[in-house]
Amino acid sequence: MPRLSEVIAALENLWPAERAESWDAVGTVVGDPGQEVGRVLFAVDPVQEIVDEAVKLGADLLVTHHPLYLRGTTTVAASTFKGRVVHTLIRNDIALHVAHTNADTADPGVSDALAGALDLRVAGPLVPDAGDPEGRRGLGRICELDHPLTVRELAALAARCLPATAQGIRVAGDPEAVVRTLAVSGGSGDSLFDAVRAAGVDAFLTADLRHHPASEFVADRAAHSPVALLDAAHWATEWPWCELAAAQLDEISDRHGWDLRVHVSKTVTDPWTAHAASTDTTDESLGAPN
Ligand SMILES: [Zn+2]
Repeated sequence: MPRLSEVIAALENLWPAERAESWDAVGTVVGDPGQEVGRVLFAVDPVQEIVDEAVKLGADLLVTHHPLYLRGTTTVAASTFKGRVVHTLIRNDIALHVAHTNADTADPGVSDALAGALDLRVAGPLVPDAGDPEGRRGLGRICELDHPLTVRELAALAARCLPATAQGIRVAGDPEAVVRTLAVSGGSGDSLFDAVRAAGVDAFLTADLRHHPASEFVADRAAHSPVALLDAAHWATEWPWCELAAAQLDEISDRHGWDLRVHVSKTVTDPWTAHAASTDTTDESLGAPN
């Protein structure tokens, strides 16, 4: 069995910590470099529910996309939500490793996995990483459709291909507009609006879109052709990365003869648990005005 330090070195090779944003908190949060690792669990969120799942599974290492502590702390007391996570991990000899913005921009990264879940052809990054001479790394991805779809059909495809959440997919813009190219970005994507406009795509699939940025974006038709917005649940847009990352680690394990057991959590950690459609203004298929 490999040591944690060996597995972490392999993960660092996939998602080097120095490629994370300066505000981010990635890398190993809990774990003894000398401990042996036989079983690994991938998940989006390092919440208690996931840690309990790792305990039940007998995992030695939990790899999450979101950091446990983004802004630092002065306590890991078990009376706090995050402290309890730390206690549970240490008590059960489970390490925690985080790959966040360094996994977003990786090649392949979070948005490749999102595009892959919908079977979209990736043409390149939406915001290329200046440090990558090959121009493959970066934030978001620009994708091409082999067969054009309406925005409504694209939303239905996303709803079908991404893991189910209470939110489903919200659409801004004309549901009947035709989409040939689109940008995708896992997680909160409204900071990428300028890049999406400049890319000249027909639609943008992301998460966490807010009223003012979204309404201003779809209303900006003077200088550009309209771009439809598809807003999925944050968790759902990043979960496909867990499967991609697990497959990458599996391949590394095979190459090294580590015989790791690599799992992906199917627990939905999206905080939204129910959704009531406004029946007087929406139809069942996709919120089209009556
Ligand atoms: Zn995220």
